[in-house]
Amino acid sequence: PLALRRRRVARAAMSAEAPPGVAPAEEGPGTAAGRQAALGDMVEDAAVWCAVHGLVVGDRAHPRSGTVPGVGLVHAPFSLLPARFPAPFWKQACELAPIFNELVDRVSLDGEFLQAALSRQVNINLPFSNFRTRKVDEFTARLLEIHEKMMAVNKKEDIRLGLHRSDYMLDSETNSLLQIELNTISSSFPGLGSLVSELHRTLLNRYGKVLGLDSKRIPQNWAATQFAEALGKAWAEYNNESAVVLMVVQPEERNMYDQYWLVNHLKELYPFYLTVTYGATTIRKTLAQVEAGGKVLTDGTLVIDGRTVAVVYFRAGYAPTDYPSEVEWRARLLMEQSSAIKCPSISYHLVGTKKIQQELAKSNVLERFIDNKEDIAKLRKSFAGLWSLDNEEIVQLAIEKPDLFVLKPQREGGGNNIYGHDLRETLIKLQKEQGESLAAYILMQRIFPKASLSPLVRGGECFEDLTISELGIYGAYLRNKDKVILNNQSGYLMRTKVSSSNEGGVAAGFAVLDSVILT
Ligand code: ADP
Ligand code: MG
Ligand code: MG
Repeated sequence: PLALRRRRVARAAMSAEAPPGVAPAEEGPGTAAGRQAALGDMVEDAAVWCAVHGLVVGDRAHPRSGTVPGVGLVHAPFSLLPARFPAPFWKQACELAPIFNELVDRVSLDGEFLQAALSRQVNINLPFSNFRTRKVDEFTARLLEIHEKMMAVNKKEDIRLGLHRSDYMLDSETNSLLQIELNTISSSFPGLGSLVSELHRTLLNRYGKVLGLDSKRIPQNWAATQFAEALGKAWAEYNNESAVVLMVVQPEERNMYDQYWLVNHLKELYPFYLTVTYGATTIRKTLAQVEAGGKVLTDGTLVIDGRTVAVVYFRAGYAPTDYPSEVEWRARLLMEQSSAIKCPSISYHLVGTKKIQQELAKSNVLERFIDNKEDIAKLRKSFAGLWSLDNEEIVQLAIEKPDLFVLKPQREGGGNNIYGHDLRETLIKLQKEQGESLAAYILMQRIFPKASLSPLVRGGECFEDLTISELGIYGAYLRNKDKVILNNQSGYLMRTKVSSSNEGGVAAGFAVLDSVILT
C-alpha cells in the first residue's frame, strides 16, 4: 500500500521532459533514478513519523473518528517534499504579519465602519436597521446583529487576543505576493502545520543529499507553541488562576488533534512570565453545550459548569452550519456579553470577512486606520484586485472573462467560491434578480501561481501531480488597553493542492499540508 504511484505526466517530467511552462518540482545533483528510489523509501518513513509524532487527523472512513479522541486516526495528508518558495517573498509575507495584526485591531474599534460596510452586504434597502426587509446574507446579518447589540451597550474589550492567519499566493503573471484572505476566526493548523516543517526537516536530514535539498533552508515553525503562548498570556492577563480556557468546537471534528496540540502546549507551559507554576486548563464545548451549561454573572464573569472562563477560543462558529438553531446563536451572544477574552471578539470576527477585505482595499481606507506610510504601502502591495458588485463595469468584464476572477460569498472554511463557467452563470442570474443579491458577494482578481510537480501523500499512498501552493502566515496579537503585549509573526502553514482544483482547504479535502524550503 505504500507503493509510489506515478501519473504519466509525472514520469515525463522526472525524466527531464517537463511539459513546457512546468518547472520540475525539485532539481539537484541526484539522478532521476536515485531520486525515485529515495522518494519510495521516504513515503514509508514519513507515514511512520506522522504516526509517532501526532501528525494525524480523524479518518473519514471511521464513524467515531470525529467524536472520540484516539479512535480511527490516519496521518494528515501531506506533501512529501517542502514547497520551494523565494526567500524575498517569504520575508515580505512575514513582515506583513504584525502590520495586519495591528490593522485588525484598529478596524475592530471602528464599529460604525464595520456596520456601514457590512449592512450593505446584508441588505441594500437600508438605512434603518429595523426596516431590514431583505437580508441578502442571513448569516452575516446575525453576526452584525450581535455586533450592533454590543455597540448599543457600549461594550468595551480591554484585553484583545487575535490569532490570525493571512494567506498568500505568488502570482506568476505579475511576479508578486498577493493576499488571498485574512482569517481572524478559527485559523486552523497551527498544531499540525508546525509538525509538517519538522517532518520535512527530518526527511531532508536523511535524504536531502540524494535529492539536492538542504534541510537548513526550511524556516523554523513554532506556530503551535506560539499560539499556545498567546492563549496562555491572555489567560494570565485575565488574572484568575482557577479560570479555564474554553475551546468552542464543532460537535464532530476530525481535525481535533490540531486543536489538542494547542491544549497540550497550553497545559505544559511553564513560562517565566507567569507567577503560577502550572499552565492553563482547557475545556472543550460545543455552542449548544455552552448554551446549556453557561451563564454570565452580574459582574460579567462567564461561568460554564461552575468554572470561570478566562479565554474563549473559537474553533467553531464561523459557518452557518455551526448554528443549526437559535440555541447556538444564544450561546454566541452570551459569550460576547461576558467579560471573558474572546478569540475572536465579534468585531475581530467581522474584520476578517471578505467584504471588509474588499472595503480596506479601496483607496484612502487604510489611511483611516494606519498612520505609518510605509506600513500602508506594504499592505497595499499585497492586495489583489477586489471589487464590490455594484461596480457594473467589473461585473460585465467578469461575465466576459470569468477565468480572470473569483466570485466570493461571505463564507469561511473552503469550498464556497465560484469560478469560471459557474461564475458567469451566477453573475447573469444575480443580475436578472434585479441585483440585490449581488451585494452578498465580492469579486476578486484571480491569482495564478506557477504549477510544479510534487509528490503528495494521502492514506499512506503517494502520487505525483501538478500542484500550486498557498502560504499562510500566522500572527498573534495581544493587548490590554494601551499595552501591546504581543504582536508577532507566529509560524506558517503551506498548503499545496492539485493545480486543477480551484479550492484549497485541507480539512475540506482539496489540499495537503506542506512546508517551505527557501530558494
Ligand atoms: P475560505 O475562507 O473559504 O478559505 P478563501 O478566500 O481562502 O476562502 O478561498 C478558498 C480557496 O480558493 C483558497 O484557499 C484558494 O485556493 C482559492 N482562491 C481564493 N481566492 C483566490 C484568488 N483570488 N485566486 C486564485 N485562487 C483563489
Ligand atoms: Mg477563510
Ligand atoms: Mg482560505
